[in-house]
Amino acid sequence: MTVDRNKANRELLAFYAEAGVDVALREEPNDWLSEPPAPSVASEPRAAAVQSEPAPRPQATSQAKSAFSPPIQPSAPVPPPPDAAVMAAREAARNAASLDELRGILDRFEGCALKGGASRLVFADGTPGSRLMFVGEAPGAEEDRQGLPFVGRSGQLLDRMLHAIGLDRSKVYIANIVPWRPPGNRTPTPVETQICLPFVQRQIELCNPDILVTVGQPSTGALIGVQGIMKNRGRWFPYQTGTREIRAMPMLHPAYLLRSPIGKRLAWRDLLTIKKALGQS
Ligand code: URA
Repeated sequence: MTVDRNKANRELLAFYAEAGVDVALREEPNDWLSEPPAPSVASEPRAAAVQSEPAPRPQATSQAKSAFSPPIQPSAPVPPPPDAAVMAAREAARNAASLDELRGILDRFEGCALKGGASRLVFADGTPGSRLMFVGEAPGAEEDRQGLPFVGRSGQLLDRMLHAIGLDRSKVYIANIVPWRPPGNRTPTPVETQICLPFVQRQIELCNPDILVTVGQPSTGALIGVQGIMKNRGRWFPYQTGTREIRAMPMLHPAYLLRSPIGKRLAWRDLLTIKKALGQS
């Protein structure tokens, strides 16, 4: 019997994996039958967007069993509505006086639902204060595992692109528009992007690069406000950091270049433009 159940469980897991399920919402299986009744969401105080302390986990009691408790996790903070989350993000990001502080604030921020499905915060890699900063879209599976941006296949291509113009990670600064991996590597929604935007904008201001490279359309749209990566790649746009105007350039995303190697010709041209702008021609 046990063997059959194990086999059935394995088959079910294999089915989930094939169907693309790659995110477990909890570390351990949840026995809903032993959960206390879910608290009324309406009567709960709204979770603060930035938590000062982790919320204590409620204890399950044996009298409080309910066979039909809805799968609301009492310990998971309820994200505030999008408008409130964007306002909280702006306020929180403004309060960061350094990149380290910003990382800490972001790690405690509970206003973006993506955090709940990710393993960890993926804040940045490279050297703060570099003259050249790259901003990509969102962490993928490998980035989520390592807690660093651009360390998967597209990151390896980005490394080769940097080497091609005499740079490496230690000479640039790299971040993403959203710092948590979207489930199944989907594109972040406009709401998720808007909630995370004040943080990456502050990150740019605090890094204070001379040149900002937006990697791919989502980052280009969010930071420069233009649509059409093919039409806009390799062009310079003014970007206000909050303290000064710098130059920004959209670039084709390495993930796109892996799928369409013909685009590497264009990317190479853009890299040379960046190299020249850094005065390294
Ligand atoms: N793609 C991105 O845009 N960012 C990463 O960190 C990895 C892949």
